[in-house]
Amino acid sequence: MSKENNTFRKFNLDKEILKALNNLEYKRPSNVQTKTIPQLINKNDVIVKSKTGSGKTASFAIPICENINVEDNNVQALVIVPTRELALQVKEEISNIGRLKKVRCCAIYGKQPIKEQISSLKQRVHVVVATPGRIIDHIKRETINIKNLNYLIIDEADKMLNKGFIEQIDTIFENLPKNKTVGLFSATIDEDIEYVCKKYMNEALIIDVEESEAINEKQIDENLIRVDQNEKYNTLKNIIYSENPKTVIIFANTREKVNKIYNQMKRDKFLVRELHGDMSQDKRIYVIKDFKENKFNVLVSSDVAARGIHIENISLVINYDIPRDKENYIHRIGRTGRKDKFGKSISIVTDKDEKYINEIQDYIGYKINEIEKIDEDDIV
Ligand code: ADP
Ligand code: MG
Repeated sequence: MSKENNTFRKFNLDKEILKALNNLEYKRPSNVQTKTIPQLINKNDVIVKSKTGSGKTASFAIPICENINVEDNNVQALVIVPTRELALQVKEEISNIGRLKKVRCCAIYGKQPIKEQISSLKQRVHVVVATPGRIIDHIKRETINIKNLNYLIIDEADKMLNKGFIEQIDTIFENLPKNKTVGLFSATIDEDIEYVCKKYMNEALIIDVEESEAINEKQIDENLIRVDQNEKYNTLKNIIYSENPKTVIIFANTREKVNKIYNQMKRDKFLVRELHGDMSQDKRIYVIKDFKENKFNVLVSSDVAARGIHIENISLVINYDIPRDKENYIHRIGRTGRKDKFGKSISIVTDKDEKYINEIQDYIGYKINEIEKIDEDDIV
């Protein structure tokens, strides 16, 4: 198709949606959107694998908004996500796309007063974006009306269909009406989803964008650096001094670690904040908001920010610890190099991590570039 024809017009969308996309400055559909939007509009079940930052959210948000009947005040689409931050972000995207059509969307997640949620669910709501625990609560209390549900989307599907979440997902499926379109989305999907696919989906179409677009050039310059355990913190500082990134996310494996690095960096006068699951929900939301608004430039985070969260122009991702789940490596570094931007990642590897870094390299199918230790003398 010529570039001129490659606009959102080709999907025959409502004009309010086209206008909203125009306001968002979404000029052309991304590859995943081109492949997914028509399928979901036609109510086909899909399993969609496409890299981080490729626009997966809009590829389900657009068809959902297109097929919402705004005259019907029942919930017509449910989107399940693993974290509260992501619930808010996805809700925002759906609200933006559906705004002119008057599609109403709300986010439902834990640690928020259930009473407020019950009253917002009593209002006119067409789309609900939720974390699993809390939505089950509402389904059981019958405070959400799902009898007219047309779409169930599971974002970050591989995570949601894994050990920690699968029982909840089962409960959700068992309580929803049968006649609905199901979409599973992630950057990392493999055979683990077969179970759900067989049990709850109807001849799902597999859309694997990476596989069919071989021209996908590398947008993230991935590196690793080998050091001794006791050199990790200094290495981190030296990386930041020498790279001088505009914005950086540093991932560590535990909340305690995150907090410790954060305190050390604060002492060292970095403009730094922390993000992990021990913090109150309000605080977590503010940290992400402030980071998006460039109020500080170093974020130390646990894996709560590894998936889905989109922040423009993150220049560098540092793995202070190597993730124990190989998939999380992809999601963490995927916070940079989003859309058509380029990014860089540096993973700090010690003896203890050797096994995990090998697993990761097997999984991604290439060797990560090893860089020399940075000495203080090298920093000018
Ligand atoms: P993914 O879920 O695949 O990681 P997101 O859905 O978070 O990616 O999208 C990444 C960014 O791209 C978001 O800021 C989103 O607003 C933007 N985006 C999505 N689709 C388009 C488009 N067609 N044109 C321009 N920007 C887009
Ligand atoms: Mg996403």
